[in-house]
Formats: sequence, structure tokens, C-alpha cells
Amino acid sequence: MISRLKAILVDILLPNRCGSCARVISWDKTVCDKCEKQLEKELISVCKICGKKPCKNHDLQVFDGITVLFDYSGQARKAVRMLKYHRGLNFAPYCAKHLAQRLRDDKLDVQTDLVTCVPMSRKKRRIKGYDHAELIARELAKKLGKPLDCKLLVHAQTGTEQHSMNAKNRRAHANACFSCAEKHSDISGKTVLICDDIYTTGSTLNACALLLKGMGAKKVIAAAAATTHFKLSKERVDVKARKQS
Ligand SMILES: [Zn+2]
Ligand SMILES: [Zn+2]
Repeated sequence: MISRLKAILVDILLPNRCGSCARVISWDKTVCDKCEKQLEKELISVCKICGKKPCKNHDLQVFDGITVLFDYSGQARKAVRMLKYHRGLNFAPYCAKHLAQRLRDDKLDVQTDLVTCVPMSRKKRRIKGYDHAELIARELAKKLGKPLDCKLLVHAQTGTEQHSMNAKNRRAHANACFSCAEKHSDISGKTVLICDDIYTTGSTLNACALLLKGMGAKKVIAAAAATTHFKLSKERVDVKARKQS
């Protein structure tokens, strides 16, 4: 009763907002009814190994599989951007709820020993004040009842944003900017679940998985809110180029 009253009071003083459109919502929700309906329509089913549709070549993939919820488009894209750039923090527990369900459906929850996230550089985190991938990882660990350790890897500050690079440069950049933390817990023989917000070429996840396996992890599985489709991106670029010419 007291905790409910406290929640109502907090709701009046600091209104709870939809993690997708920022509309004020009741304290027990993470997204508004309208966004929830739309997001449910946008849930996708892709290859459980490479997280793409159509499937891409698995030969060079280091991580052992990935669970993703959305294509990076439509309402899901707006929601990911809300989480990433506008403190739409409620999208993290929303994603965690759906990711946990999918992991349970695929019996990957029982295999998971530990949850971690793709690390953000200390400078970026200081400027932003939060790490969105860590928020997803924290909520997911809670939902799965698994330990969370986001201090396994570190992200060096390179000053370059990866999303502005092509696939080849992304790979080199990802390999250069992640490293194992000097002091970290023992993950030998463990299956690590690593979380991120958007899964693009897989360079980041491959670089992190390589490090985690080098630290002794038996298996590295991934979970991300959204996946991109390059064919679509290329079409968008072509449309943009046509408009400009
Ligand atoms: Zn909404
Ligand atoms: Zn595949």
C-alpha cells in the first residue's frame, strides 16, 4: 500500500513518460497504449544466428547467435532514438521484457550464466549521463534472474562515431576501440549474453565476442533492440541522392 502511494506521488511530481513518444503514462507502464500496439505490429522474426533477413554468411561471425526485436525503422526506430538520445529510458525495460520472453522461448535463458553490454566510452557516458545498452542489460538480467556484469570490457575514446563508417572501417574501428578490463571477474567456461541497442554489421558484437572468448567465455550470445537491413539503407541513400540531384 505504501509503495503504491509512493509511486502515485512520484507520478504526480515526476510524471512517467512513454519510452517511445514521451506522452505521459501511468506509473506502471513503459510505453503508451498507442505505441504498444504499433510496436507489437513491428516485432520481427529473423535468423537466430545472424539476426538478419535474409540470412547473411555465418562463417566470419564470432558471436554464437542473436535475439533481436525490431527492424530499425518505423515506431521502433523512433523509440530506439528516444532511448539513445532523449532519455526515453522506459524503452529499456520494454525491450527487456520482450527479449526475455524470446530468450525463454528459445531456451537460451537457461544457458545464460551472465549478462553484460557493449561498453560505452567513459567520456560519452559522462556527457550523456547514462548508458542505454547497460540499461537494457540491467533490465534483462533482472527479468532473467541472472547476474549482471558490465565491467568486463572497456571502450577507448576514439572520437569517431562508428555509425558514420562503412563496413570495412567499422570492423577495424571496433577491433581497435574495445579491450578487456584490466581487472574483471572470471568468466571461464561461462555463456555470456551481451546487449546492445542497434545491431548493424556485427563488427561491434564480433569484436566484443572475440575479447570475451579470449577471456575464457564458452559461448557469447547477443540481444539487441533493433537490427538494420542494408538493402533498405541503400535504397534510402539512393532516394536521397535522387532528391538532391
Ligand atoms: Zn507512446
Ligand atoms: Zn543467418
